[in-house]
Amino acid sequence: MAVATDLKLIRDKVEAGERLSFEDGLYLYRPDVPLQEIGQLANLVRQRLHGNVAYYNINTHLNPTNVCVYRCTFCAFRSDLRDPKGYVMSDEQILERGREAVENGCTEMHIVGGLHHQKKYEWYVHLLELLHQAYPRLHLKAWTAVEINWFEFLARKTAREVLLDMIQAGLGSLPGGGAEIFHPQVRHRICEHKADASKWLDIHRTAHRLGLKTNCTMLYGHIEEPVHRIDHLLRLRRLQDETGGFQTFIPLAFHPANTGLAHLPRPSALLDLRTLAISRLMLDNIPHIKAYWVMLGVDIAQVALAYGADDLDGTVRHELIYHDAGATTPQMLSVEEICRLIREAGCEPVERDTLYRPVYRDPNDFRNWSVSTDAVACSSV
Ligand code: SF4
Repeated sequence: MAVATDLKLIRDKVEAGERLSFEDGLYLYRPDVPLQEIGQLANLVRQRLHGNVAYYNINTHLNPTNVCVYRCTFCAFRSDLRDPKGYVMSDEQILERGREAVENGCTEMHIVGGLHHQKKYEWYVHLLELLHQAYPRLHLKAWTAVEINWFEFLARKTAREVLLDMIQAGLGSLPGGGAEIFHPQVRHRICEHKADASKWLDIHRTAHRLGLKTNCTMLYGHIEEPVHRIDHLLRLRRLQDETGGFQTFIPLAFHPANTGLAHLPRPSALLDLRTLAISRLMLDNIPHIKAYWVMLGVDIAQVALAYGADDLDGTVRHELIYHDAGATTPQMLSVEEICRLIREAGCEPVERDTLYRPVYRDPNDFRNWSVSTDAVACSSV
């Protein structure tokens, strides 16, 4: 039975460190609930967890192929097998990307791509081996749960067996993509063929049990309603109660250009900030909330640091997926630019590695870095 709620009750709960309910979350999405007040509450939680610190990392992206068997309606990145836009990177190109990353001080490579009709399981394993053997310090955050599910099909293996193969090859953690919106009313309309909610969550559960940290996401601002967003957040919260393996939640703003949903407007800045703040308030057990500047735009991402976010993602090189969907953000930001954005927002920038350990750099050689072996920074919730 639904329990009546209002902003005062919600404020009391947040101040007392109590968990918000499904009804609380829905209430916060009501347009008559002032965004500034939600933002203040989210900022209270953010300050409690991380003080004044805002994180960033130095990273690069690799999308080994854009050819994909699926046709998610929101995706502008994918290509058909014989489409001139389709590509598959060679070993040489992949190694060159690794070299460039290391030369530029990257600590992380984020690897996701299409589910190629003709590439075998061994190619995906080989790709990690290739990079890991050549650049062992580069953390490989690779393959969404949707890709792991595809590999299960290709290799006739369980998710656990696939993840063990990938760990052996050099996998460091899983990114959070492919979650989109879990609720079947929406999922069936935007990506009906790919891993459903229970499969996505089960792969992350398996990864957590193997000791891998993972991230989680939600693609919002298309055909979903607030009820679907809150349902999504609570499914993530329940898994986190069980495993504690999620590090970061990343709300992903839908970009309509060149997608099957191009008739829709893109989400407003107000929806972006409200969703970030509500995520911070509902996900009381996930340490970090990321304002992914590539999708939000640099300005909104900066403001988001006062609306619950504590992480701006990274400098980012070679981002294709959201730029194909019309993102007008720069291709990358320099460390100086990210630090300036964070300082202007009144926060203290801290470079982290993928596992949120502070990174220390040799002032005379940027590429010479080490991580703190102390406790993981600000990650206890
Ligand atoms: S979102 Fe991923 S799975 Fe869906 S069509 Fe695009 S590349 Fe393929």
